[in-house]
Amino acid sequence: MTNHEPQIYYDDDADEELLANKTVAVLGYGSQGHAHALNLDDSGVDVIVGLRESSSSRDAAAAEGLRVETPVEAARQADIVSMLVPDTVQPAVYDAIRDELEPGDTLQFAHGFNIHYNQIQPDEDIDVTMIAPKSPGHLVRRNFENDEGTPGLLAVYQDASGEAEEKALAYAAGIGCTRAGVVETSFQEETESDLFGEQAVLCGGITALIKAGYETLVENGYSREMAYFECLNEMKLIVDLMYEGGIGEMWDSVSDTAEYGGLTRGDVLIDDHVRENMEVLLEEVQDGTFAREWIAENQAGRPSYTRLRQADKSHDIEEVGEELRGLFAWSEDEAEPPEVPADD
Ligand code: NAD
Ligand code: MG
Repeated sequence: MTNHEPQIYYDDDADEELLANKTVAVLGYGSQGHAHALNLDDSGVDVIVGLRESSSSRDAAAAEGLRVETPVEAARQADIVSMLVPDTVQPAVYDAIRDELEPGDTLQFAHGFNIHYNQIQPDEDIDVTMIAPKSPGHLVRRNFENDEGTPGLLAVYQDASGEAEEKALAYAAGIGCTRAGVVETSFQEETESDLFGEQAVLCGGITALIKAGYETLVENGYSREMAYFECLNEMKLIVDLMYEGGIGEMWDSVSDTAEYGGLTRGDVLIDDHVRENMEVLLEEVQDGTFAREWIAENQAGRPSYTRLRQADKSHDIEEVGEELRGLFAWSEDEAEPPEVPADD
């Protein structure tokens, strides 16, 4: 990759009229699917939700007044097919709907994995685009209902019609992303940075950091409760400050002692060795090692994934956390689950 200043698009750059005579099939009604379908529907777009006959989400979509068909039938009627089933299921769904995509139709993604790693090799006469909201689906929906937007990414992999990007922008407007801003990227950049980010920083890095800090305190005789509050609970408060006003606002809000300790000790922890490990993770994302491993893991029925998930759930910090969250009044409001339909 070479660094570049990306283009950012807003409402004025999008022509929603482009969707006026088009039908959008939203395949899947999970986190992203329900939000895209409902937002597009509220934007006046003709939407069909594509779900299997056996899907438990069918009732939820129908209850919102949305038309529900099988993925194949939805794709047959649609000009734009939005692929919002789980990434691991998408290749099989693509095989099933492939013949329903006519020249100039759009195959639309919210993540680039299957295109970038060649798990889906789309026919050359269709447009292939991505609008990836940078947020979980329930926030894409909630922001839209509050007349707010959700930032997103736009990428065009294949432009057969000559207006792939314009249609993608209209789609982004329909789900509310151009209200906040849509950043132009590529399938490669989105996929690789997304995988690296979730592994090294967001999901992998932060949970490993929390658990290591917790274990260090507990192994040295500090109480599990103190360790939980210090290493996990307070994380949210710190992240909220950085989210609002950058790292500087966080430093301004903590004590001078915390700031000095952080400024002098952070790099002791995240040293060259950790940076080298990050380079290794990035290389494995770039050269496809991680993708091949994850695809093989799914083909084998997810044995390691299941085992690791189970082990993580029974970690001491999860047990003490569950007890403590149950004891404190503040957890009442925050424990509300997001309004996402049940997966099946
Ligand atoms: P999800 O797991 O929440 O929902 C998947 C939906 O697909 C469910 O409604 C399920 O019923 C349906 N489904 C499962 N198998 C199916 C099949 N064989 N045929 C038809 N429907 C089937 O998925 P998600 O998290 O919304 O992810 C969808 C896409 O959005 C992925 O590409 C993902 O990478 C991307 N994305 C997700 C998020 C997020 O926050 N969840 C954010 C950005 C992008
Ligand atoms: Mg069609």
